[in-house]
Amino acid sequence: MDIADRVALRDAPVRPADIVPLDRALRLVLQGGRETRSYRVRAGDTLWTIAGRTGMRVPNLQELNPGLSPRNLAIGEVLKLSRTVPLINVSTVYTQTQRQELPCPVVRKKDDRLPLGLTRVLQAGRAGLAEVTEQVICRNGQVVGRRELTRKVLQAPREQVVAVGTWQLLASRSGSGGRLGWPVVGAVTSPFGARWGGFHPGIDIAAGYGTPVDAAAPGRVVRAGWYGGYGNCVDIDHGDGVVTRYGHLSRIAVEEGEQVIKGQLVGYVGSTGFATGPHLHFEVRINGNPVNPESFL
Ligand SMILES: [Zn+2]
Repeated sequence: MDIADRVALRDAPVRPADIVPLDRALRLVLQGGRETRSYRVRAGDTLWTIAGRTGMRVPNLQELNPGLSPRNLAIGEVLKLSRTVPLINVSTVYTQTQRQELPCPVVRKKDDRLPLGLTRVLQAGRAGLAEVTEQVICRNGQVVGRRELTRKVLQAPREQVVAVGTWQLLASRSGSGGRLGWPVVGAVTSPFGARWGGFHPGIDIAAGYGTPVDAAAPGRVVRAGWYGGYGNCVDIDHGDGVVTRYGHLSRIAVEEGEQVIKGQLVGYVGSTGFATGPHLHFEVRINGNPVNPESFL
């Protein structure tokens, strides 16, 4: 404990009436000081808003400013304010020990086998725990500063490792980033993923019967014919294990083995196979596994 002001102790004769019990003396030390301020009345002020703004009570305001009443406040009038402050300022310093959570760091690793734009958590992170001892500095009971003295790590945080895909799905000689082109222009009426208790391995794109369907990227036609629920179906192999599939076509415009360029006509929208109406079912497969085409369009 430290007293911020200069306080001298000395023996002096006092009148017996000035001697006070300890608790009153303590109250005097903590609240015996008085700080006088003033306040200039602004438009729209009331005694209550002034009291609220200055941390005072209306009766105290009236006591300090005799004759003040809610009805005779004048704009620009100066009111006396005061508040109690400690007679002397007491600083205390103590040490305290607390447990503190340590956030887990995140490490990003580039992965050239993961498509660009996708991430995958390789190792889940976990927060750590430390025991921290610090010095706390208070002034009149209010914390004004802290200083770390020691830190003991009870449990080190485990880093979160995230793979960040850098693989360009399709190598592009034009440098356009290897994105896929939309095979037809239309709204996605059924997205990739869980559907009707099953799994929808592609997206359905709304388009009228007979709308031309274009190759999403250059490649080689590896399927051009009827394929079960897909009806009339075209698969194009783009290399690097990437295949696009176009289903429910009313008519096919390419042949198996044919080399196509991006945007080339491969067929026409229909509703052959398992389809309730004309639309294009479009799939992207990487090494045989369907992925969400919307990540690459
Ligand atoms: Zn579909």
